[in-house]
Amino acid sequence: MIALIPSWRSLAGAAAGCTLLFVMIGIAPAAQADEPYARSRDYDLQNIRTHLWFDVDQRAIHGEVAETVAALHDNVSELKLDSVALNIQSVTVDGRAAKFTVTPNNLIVTLDRPAASGEKHEVLIRYDGKPKKGLYFVLPDSNYPNQPKEIWTQGEAEDTRYYIPLYDYPNDRTTSEMLLTVPAAWTTISNGQLIEVKTEPDGQKTWDWKQTQPLSTYLISVVAGEFTERDDSWHGIPLRYVVPRGEESRISPTFFETKDMLDLFTNKLGEPYPWSQYAQTALDDFVAEGMENTSATSITTHSLVNPALAPEDRDGADDVNSHELAHQWFGDLVTCKDWGNLWLNEGFADFFQRVWSEHRFGRDEYDFDFWRDQNQWVRQPRLFPVPIVSRDFDDSTEYQDNVYDKAGWVLRMLREKLGDDAFYAALHRYLEVNKGQNVVTADLQKAVEQATSVNVDKFFEQWVYGAGAPKFDVSYIYDPDAHQVKLTVKQTQKVEGRVGLFDVPVDIEIATSKARQTHTIEVSQASQMFTFAADDAPLMVAFDKGDKILKSLEFKRDATLLAYQLKNGATTPDRAEAAVALGPIKDDPRAVSALGDAARHDGFWGIRVEALLALGRIGGPDAEEQVLAAVRDPEPWVRSVAVSELGNFKDDDSLPSKLSKIAESDPAYTVRAAALGALASVHAPDAFAMLAAAAKSESPDNILRDAALRGLGRLGDIRAVPVLMDWAAPGKPIESRQAAIGAVASLDKSNAVITKTLVSYLSEPYFDIRLSAIFALGARGDTDAIPPLENMLKNGELTVAIGPYIELALRLLKSQPVVAR
Ligand SMILES: [Zn+2]
Repeated sequence: MIALIPSWRSLAGAAAGCTLLFVMIGIAPAAQADEPYARSRDYDLQNIRTHLWFDVDQRAIHGEVAETVAALHDNVSELKLDSVALNIQSVTVDGRAAKFTVTPNNLIVTLDRPAASGEKHEVLIRYDGKPKKGLYFVLPDSNYPNQPKEIWTQGEAEDTRYYIPLYDYPNDRTTSEMLLTVPAAWTTISNGQLIEVKTEPDGQKTWDWKQTQPLSTYLISVVAGEFTERDDSWHGIPLRYVVPRGEESRISPTFFETKDMLDLFTNKLGEPYPWSQYAQTALDDFVAEGMENTSATSITTHSLVNPALAPEDRDGADDVNSHELAHQWFGDLVTCKDWGNLWLNEGFADFFQRVWSEHRFGRDEYDFDFWRDQNQWVRQPRLFPVPIVSRDFDDSTEYQDNVYDKAGWVLRMLREKLGDDAFYAALHRYLEVNKGQNVVTADLQKAVEQATSVNVDKFFEQWVYGAGAPKFDVSYIYDPDAHQVKLTVKQTQKVEGRVGLFDVPVDIEIATSKARQTHTIEVSQASQMFTFAADDAPLMVAFDKGDKILKSLEFKRDATLLAYQLKNGATTPDRAEAAVALGPIKDDPRAVSALGDAARHDGFWGIRVEALLALGRIGGPDAEEQVLAAVRDPEPWVRSVAVSELGNFKDDDSLPSKLSKIAESDPAYTVRAAALGALASVHAPDAFAMLAAAAKSESPDNILRDAALRGLGRLGDIRAVPVLMDWAAPGKPIESRQAAIGAVASLDKSNAVITKTLVSYLSEPYFDIRLSAIFALGARGDTDAIPPLENMLKNGELTVAIGPYIELALRLLKSQPVVAR
């Protein structure tokens, strides 16, 4: 799955100049898993046939589930099922009433007589309940009367048991049938194949979905409600694109790449798409960004692409779509046996996002994406001492970026080590041998060796079972008499626990006025020196050319060398690394001019962006001139960064009028939105009036209004409070509310009415709004928010992603209150 992160970035940025908040959003709440080791099993769940119908107004379900089970050893006298807060009405075994007990977490069914190994039984359970987790109702109310009715589920990690009593841990697989009785006008989606839609005597319809290849139960999905479906097919496999009614125009710009992605992944893996359909369904108020339910992915409606904004959106919904599609093989066809091996799901999904962007945009994009992932990963020191295979579940959210970013990186390095042909042959072998099964890391290791005859034990030992990554400290001297470059390489990471010294090949590229050469060195010790022949003093010394090793790097070079590398580096990471290294070099015209040149002329958009960010950090009139020149960039995703960075140049009186003009007339909405933000950042004299006017404007997805609302928060002018309170109120569009809630939290901090209003949003039914209110209260620093947040935790705010955020907001309020009453 992908946790809800990207859509929160802008919100958190607006909520405060509070860096701790960025720490908060850097943590991806995902699988909340309680059992670090897979269970020992008494029985095998072989088939599950669930029939659900709904009391929508009561947010209640009625269920009947038939489960075929087989004893896995002799003397099995009871069947222990996972079941939470469900009201069990009756249980029969093989048609006869059975004794059962209900505990807070289990339904225990007693067998008439102990079963022998292999003995099969048919268990039928009737139940009802109002699930607090696992299954969610999104319904219209007086504030949002046009909200389509939606019922959907989110099973990962261990939440299917909140709406079906069953064996619910990934170390088992079962075939599954899902019958859903719903109003005649509704649409449903579930796993597998749609067998039939039958009209009931009362006019409702029952949809019958059948999944004939076994799945693990966290991948069961139910979607039902007022949706619109567009059908397509790919090599005879039905494709379904499903969105809430009214969102039809977003189907094409969101899902237009699905068939190409299917072609790419099947070609790379040599393993056919495994399932009998592929549905992609967008859900309102969904608790994750995406979830890879078998043959039936769910994504949040925040990821849908508005056709009016599609030309400004470089990669649309590519990330979530490619991630969840890759999971159909890695996660669904081959499933981790326990949550400690979750990287076998998420690392591959992350890696194949990048493989998709390589296919669509080229190798530059692939390398650049990984370079950015690396930077994000190294900025989180708590991840460093923990391996990606970890069973430390004290705070299961804590290490998500190891399981995603670092794990994806490990696969990048494995690809590099083996070469493309061997790497994909190894993945093919892994899937072929393990399909339909649950796996641990050793299964991957073994498949790689079998397919390639390359021993990868050491590679796995240092990168998968070991923790951290090399922290390189590099320096060199040039000896003009000997014509030699002497390179000193130190590994400065603290060697303790699971962190060791790394043994890795590193490419060094040295350019002189006469030649350019790449040397591969083997780094394995704490400190080593390498000597290279060089006919002249180097113009460039690039360490780890192409960024092939996950690492952090300290390597001081003067502006001339970095400028050369920025202009001439062979790969995007080489040039991006130089741009970042030039950023802290102030008062050196060479840095500014090299960055300005790159910002205008580099052929790759990402380098232009990195150069602009570095110029923004440098500041001053010369840097500003360079950024202004880049405001004409043809690509809106670069132009908007240039305009945002102008917000760093507060001393130029002529800047506000330039920004106003951009805010009014740039052809791209995203760039106009960035200009509104920059007007607030430079505290332009008429910024309040401009932003207040823009808050009244209409634009696709309210992009200009929301930028103006965020800007009003940043401006720090309390005249904005009434406008923001108005847009934060129930009934206004959800995304505008999120912007206004974050913005108003940073204003008039002793105003108890604002805090009270934000607290009132904690009890709204909308997940998005509750989460925004939690962020806002954490950043606001008013200790009045502590009791209601504590109550929320105590009353079991169980929704998959919220708990950890409440805890972090509380930690923030207790450690640095701004207003204490
Ligand atoms: Zn995922």
